[in-house]
Amino acid sequence: MSDKMNHPAIQAIRHEQTYVMMKPDGVKRGLTGEVMSRISKAGLKVVALKMVKATEDQIRAHYPMQDQEWVDGLGEKGLGTFEKLQLDAKEFLGTDNKSEIGRSVAEGLVDYMQSGPVVCMIVEGIGAIEAVRKMVGHTLPFKAEPGTIRGDFSVDSPVVANVEGRAIQNVVHASVVADEAAHEISIWFNEDEVINYKIAGEDIMYGKIY
Ligand code: UDP
Ligand code: MG
Repeated sequence: MSDKMNHPAIQAIRHEQTYVMMKPDGVKRGLTGEVMSRISKAGLKVVALKMVKATEDQIRAHYPMQDQEWVDGLGEKGLGTFEKLQLDAKEFLGTDNKSEIGRSVAEGLVDYMQSGPVVCMIVEGIGAIEAVRKMVGHTLPFKAEPGTIRGDFSVDSPVVANVEGRAIQNVVHASVVADEAAHEISIWFNEDEVINYKIAGEDIMYGKIY
């Protein structure tokens, strides 16, 4: 093994961690095993795992509720679908303002995430953040590609969800970037809950086999 393998930059890539959470619909539908199986088969390693009933404070800390840009983004994701279907958001939601719609989606999210147990995990491996995010697929189930978790196991639309006054149920959460992953991991896990161990395929997946 090259001594460069121990370089901190290489080790950081090798042991990149992301936060993944089965949402209440995913848990209730019995999809936790399926999602964990996909993660494991990709060669990634679950290094922390637990089922909890999330508190309101945990959900409000997990999602950047105070970040107006994020709230507006939630509104925009839904509004785009109204436009595509040539539906007037104002007629159905009483407003076409992205901030107002985003705020209402954010509040729906707090209820959704407390509607049943969630399964929290830290997933580790080369480029884990991007790798898991690609497996998870697009936020909006009807836009998620087949082969992704959301594409294969969910079918919700923001138009229907917004009109029903609830969040989009899309099975699983995964961090998008390193800062978000670190923030989310710190909310759901203590450092002593992370277990360092070797998975069976580790030498084959991550080492030279010839
Ligand atoms: N969400 C929603 N309506 C929307 C956009 C998002 O209910 O129009 C919910 C959905 O459950 C999503 C969560 O809010 O997973 C967080 O949104 P984000 O934009 O961070 O998407 P994600 O990172 O989960 O793909
Ligand atoms: Mg997100």
